[in-house]
Amino acid sequence: MARTIAAPRASTRRKRAAPGRPLAGRVAIVTGSTSGIGLGIARALAAQGCAVVLNGLGDGEAIERERESLARAERVQARYHPADMSRPDQIRELVSWAVSDLGSVDVIVSNAGVQHVAPVESFPDDRWDAILAVNLSAAFHLTKAALPHMRQRGWGRIINIASVHGLVASTNKVAYVTAKHGLVGLTKAVALECADSAITCNAICPGWVRTPLVEAQIAQRAREQGISLSRATEDLLCEKQPSGRFTEVEQLGALVAFLCSDAAANITGATQVVDGGWTAR
Ligand code: NAD
Repeated sequence: MARTIAAPRASTRRKRAAPGRPLAGRVAIVTGSTSGIGLGIARALAAQGCAVVLNGLGDGEAIERERESLARAERVQARYHPADMSRPDQIRELVSWAVSDLGSVDVIVSNAGVQHVAPVESFPDDRWDAILAVNLSAAFHLTKAALPHMRQRGWGRIINIASVHGLVASTNKVAYVTAKHGLVGLTKAVALECADSAITCNAICPGWVRTPLVEAQIAQRAREQGISLSRATEDLLCEKQPSGRFTEVEQLGALVAFLCSDAAANITGATQVVDGGWTAR
């Protein structure tokens, strides 16, 4: 199922990190990293010297180009694994494949996510199931599979990309809001179970970030209200995000890199909110 490139297997013993590359010798799995926020996070980790496993849906050739350019630009090992995050068996296979191919799994970023916008009375059952599976249960299955490897190495970073919708609700997003609140709870529960070790678990709660997931909502809003895309974009920001600006994927990548640093060693069970003031009012 997985595509690999020929490259030397990483040693299970971590060498001293080179200056400016503090995550050299570490291995990260970033789910949903073929697009948007996940790709920004994978790039930020690779820039710190971390080997990365990309994952997600999309065109095979475009993914391969991205994987290759990441590996070349950052001089790291980069792989792609096509595990479907709604399938626990494929999540387990992703982790064991990463360990056997790259030597360990030190960082996991549960980022894959899907959205569907509709009132609760007409919310499709299959969309409810899919959103809970990909946005919530996948993080449980990934954590469960990766944690024993982190414990064995005595270090780990578990990062869940939740949302402001893990803290507050909006209308017409019942499954997403439920899943993201669950993800914040999962983060706290795992953090407590790891608190006596060097493994931390945190959630990041972004407000609006301009990615394909949000572009679809802007297009739906423009269609339903008969307004232009730029007007729909402006309305979307004004309604919730007081800064009036989208968060950039690079800013979220930098936050993940910080959470992986030694400076963040005692940050655990926390929700890092990046929402332009959304939840301040
Ligand atoms: P996106 O649509 O650009 O990316 C989603 C990624 O998830 C893609 O790589 C996609 O292929 C992958 N994916 C979807 N279903 C999958 C499956 N079954 N198996 C494996 N991969 C799958 O969206 P994004 O905005 O970058 O979202 C990333 C995360 O950030 C999501 O969890 C989302 O809920 C969260 N988030 C986004 C925003 C925002 O404003 N964009 C705000 C808060 C939280």
